[in-house]
Amino acid sequence: MMTPEKILVVDDSLTIRMQVKDLLELNGFDVTLAENGLRCLEILQYEKPDVILLDIIMPEMDGIEVCQKIKIDEKLKYIPILILTTESDIENKVMGLDAGADDYVTKPFELKELMARIKVIIRNLQLQKELRLANKKILEQQKSVIEEERLKVLLQMSGATALELDQPLSSLLGYIDLLNSCKNDMEKLNKCIYKIKSCGKKVSDVTKRIQNINYLDINPKSSGSSIFSYDEKLKLLSVESRDEDFQKIENCLKKSRFDITRVHTITEAIKIIESERMSLIFLDHPPYEGDALDLFKFLAEKSLETPVIVITGQGDEMAASQMIQSGADGYITKDRLNEEVLTITINTALEKYCRKMELKSAMEKLAQMATRDELTGLYNRRYFRESMERETVRAVRYGAELVLCIFDLDHFKKVNDTYGHLTGDMVLSEIGKMLQERIRGSDLLCRYGGEEFAVILPNTDIENAYKVCDRFRIDLSLYDFSYESIKFRMTTSIGIATLKDAEFQSPQELVLRADQALYRAKESGRNKVITYEKNMSTC
Ligand code: GH3
Ligand code: MG
Ligand code: MG
Repeated sequence: MMTPEKILVVDDSLTIRMQVKDLLELNGFDVTLAENGLRCLEILQYEKPDVILLDIIMPEMDGIEVCQKIKIDEKLKYIPILILTTESDIENKVMGLDAGADDYVTKPFELKELMARIKVIIRNLQLQKELRLANKKILEQQKSVIEEERLKVLLQMSGATALELDQPLSSLLGYIDLLNSCKNDMEKLNKCIYKIKSCGKKVSDVTKRIQNINYLDINPKSSGSSIFSYDEKLKLLSVESRDEDFQKIENCLKKSRFDITRVHTITEAIKIIESERMSLIFLDHPPYEGDALDLFKFLAEKSLETPVIVITGQGDEMAASQMIQSGADGYITKDRLNEEVLTITINTALEKYCRKMELKSAMEKLAQMATRDELTGLYNRRYFRESMERETVRAVRYGAELVLCIFDLDHFKKVNDTYGHLTGDMVLSEIGKMLQERIRGSDLLCRYGGEEFAVILPNTDIENAYKVCDRFRIDLSLYDFSYESIKFRMTTSIGIATLKDAEFQSPQELVLRADQALYRAKESGRNKVITYEKNMSTC
């Protein structure tokens, strides 16, 4: 069974209190009575009614004051208030509504009318509750999508990272073992310590990179089932001048899923890679013609991660290890060229390649998901676009106000030209901070472009938005930036627009209007705040 709605009736007339009480109880409400404003506030300390019926004219504290007190109290302000006034008392009706009351009933009231108004308020209350619940549910759902996506990326990253850490960690442990055996040889000892340090640095670089990723910025929208596709057809390029050796390779790979292309020289190899994507390269060393290093250089320039396996003559391990340092992923000596060795070497190289690609694409994905601008730490333009969509929908649905302000610094290019780009960067981040300090927590500040900022102000009317912008404009114009011992000042032009009188009520329209107003601010001399007006669009 539903619990009855609680109504608090505040009136100094006993007759009215009793009359209303009888009627409400008859209609299934739970009624509490208060004979004056002070008693009403006292009751509200321990009881939270669903609706308050509040008389305006009362001794000591009148209904307007009670209403104001309730509406500034965070815990009470959501309770709807229905004020009771007399027919002739228009002034009090207006003041009551101004003070935050939701509706009024005129005394002597028709009991039917009173009931109807209470029912409307209760119905609104229920709708609000349902909306709040629905919002909560949506938020929870979004949260679980974010979590899922975050975990997916993290798992992919951790697999790839573990593999990346494996090599320097193994070397590190190897060199630590070696320390004992070269205790008496200072030169070797120093070499070992140097190697330990460089392995340690590699490990620390990898971990630092991971720490710098802002996991919380992962966006639920950019989903996608898998980061990496394993279904590619494998293409092998063999750079082999000797027929006999190529035959051997071909025989070993007969059962494999490779599609083999053979070339004789490095130049031919580069030509093929330029037009065709290869999964793996076998490189005979030393090559018949050309320099093997040219191939690695070419791959690096094109950012191609294609694994290269060097096939060397017997006893040419020195050259092979040199090749590994230059970028090869493995080597096989010709005397060990058999199916088993080839399969293991190829699998290891491909596995490494897959991990590298996974890491690369996980990194790219994280970068795409980023919502922050690197220089200022503010939200970026991508996040701005999403927020504009979201806030416009919300404002239209709830009939709320929404204002957009676009800031463009005046003659910013001069700062770069006079004091250098780094000073320009410093100015941008200081201005970002200044702006952030001057807006409310519910407002949204983004870096809109190079030297442009945007602030989305939900539930704000244009007059208040103007005040905020103009205050900032003045503060900025008086602020001293410094470059070495020189002090200099900056100004900004600001365009603002509200969704309230917009024709299509779309985010694009709001941006366009704010932009047009900004253009006017620039055109009319800069260091100005201009509000969009209808006649601007025709210019
Ligand atoms: P106006 O008053 O007409 O807006 O003149 P302006 O010089 O501010 O505008 P303009 O669009 O001509 O130049 C903007 C400059 O902002 C050019 C660009 O090099 C600089 N800029 C954009 N992004 C950055 C940044 O991240 N750092 C630095 N230092 N400068 C930037
Ligand atoms: Mg600009
Ligand atoms: Mg500018």
